[in-house]
Amino acid sequence: MPDCIFCKIVSGEIPANKIYEDNELLAFLDIKPVNPGHTLVITKKHFTDFMQTPEGLLCQMTNLAKKIGQKIINSGLGQGINITNNIKPAAGQAVDHVHMHVIPRLEGDGYELWHGREYAPGEVEKVVEKLKLEL
Ligand code: 5GP
Ligand code: ZN
Repeated sequence: MPDCIFCKIVSGEIPANKIYEDNELLAFLDIKPVNPGHTLVITKKHFTDFMQTPEGLLCQMTNLAKKIGQKIINSGLGQGINITNNIKPAAGQAVDHVHMHVIPRLEGDGYELWHGREYAPGEVEKVVEKLKLEL
């Protein structure tokens, strides 16, 4: 994709601090980390987001994110990790090239996750109906 910033990182047009590379995947440090070591795992081929990415590649990305997460813990960069993936702008996706965040977390680092809300009476049954899945 000509205008994609992550495709430019794959091609070397834009520099990045790479920590892993193979034929399909690339992992590099996020330019604005939540904490040092915050890593992005991407596919070398351009897919707009997680939903557009073939399942096999998603498995490879997940396995790599797990290995990087273990390295983050072992190195002392994180006491915990968040592995996250934002899909579409409503969910905070800013770069339209599939990527998983592997985020080192430290006690009291101030990074906030979601604030849950209660279901209204009768709401949860309707939601279950909408989401029921048969595979
Ligand atoms: P998103 O919000 O799309 O899930 O996350 C995009 C991430 O890409 C952000 O955390 C942002 O800091 C990172 N990012 C954006 N541009 C660049 C860049 O040019 N280089 C690197 N290394 N990270 C980038
Ligand atoms: Zn791209």
